[in-house]
Amino acid sequence: MSFAATLLTLYPDMFPGPLGHSLAGRALERGDWSLDCVQIRDFATDKHRTVDDTPAGGGAGMVLKADILSGAIDHARAKQPDAPILAMTPRGKPITQARIRDLVAGPGVTLLCGRFEGFDERIFEARDIEEVSVGDIVLSGGEPAALMILDACIRLLPGVMGAATSGSEESFEEGLLEYPQYTRPVEWEGRTIPEVLRSGDHAKIAAWRKSRAQQDTRLRRPDLWERHSGVRDQPASGARHDN
Ligand code: SAH
Repeated sequence: MSFAATLLTLYPDMFPGPLGHSLAGRALERGDWSLDCVQIRDFATDKHRTVDDTPAGGGAGMVLKADILSGAIDHARAKQPDAPILAMTPRGKPITQARIRDLVAGPGVTLLCGRFEGFDERIFEARDIEEVSVGDIVLSGGEPAALMILDACIRLLPGVMGAATSGSEESFEEGLLEYPQYTRPVEWEGRTIPEVLRSGDHAKIAAWRKSRAQQDTRLRRPDLWERHSGVRDQPASGARHDN
């Protein structure tokens, strides 16, 4: 069964975009995943096909109208009742690799892309929608965020990535960043590939990789490291401990 992606957007021409190329593009051609773009503007009710209005309380920009969004959302839900609906918003919960894995285990996903100043908040009260962010940055629209999330899902679909194991060792899979990678030439601008990686000793290589993954996570992403070490040796009191 193929993974069904539905995009609710004002810019359907942005899809599949980059996902029409490389691994994702070939997977789309094979039918490993499918793409359905719903034009939010088709649910406008006036002759100007209006989708937005000025912010209540004043301020810059325009806000996507709840009464129009609901039409697009209800249409998508009726077509695919079991797919979760994720709204792209910097106010959402940061998306994680664990959430991506959950999504991939299901029938598909519906992604709601915002524009302008975003959505009328009441849409989130009235419909079962998960608000997700792709990071502490502000994009001009939800489409690149949706492409990111879909890309992360598609590469995990069965048969999409070359080797069945690639993916299981990557950054975030164990709550850690991946170890650094090297390839030939052995020497480049006076720098050599770490000796251990050329030793052929698989146990030593695995130990080196594990230690570098831990060290780099600790230095680069103290937030991940704290969570990782917290999960490993959670104090009974739940109190924080310093590393
Ligand atoms: N006024 C909003 C930003 C709107 S940006 C705010 O300050 O919170 C316009 C649209 O881009 C949003 O509706 C959302 O769909 C998308 N977007 C911007 N940044 C995003 C992010 N970090 N993650 C996911 N979507 C984002």
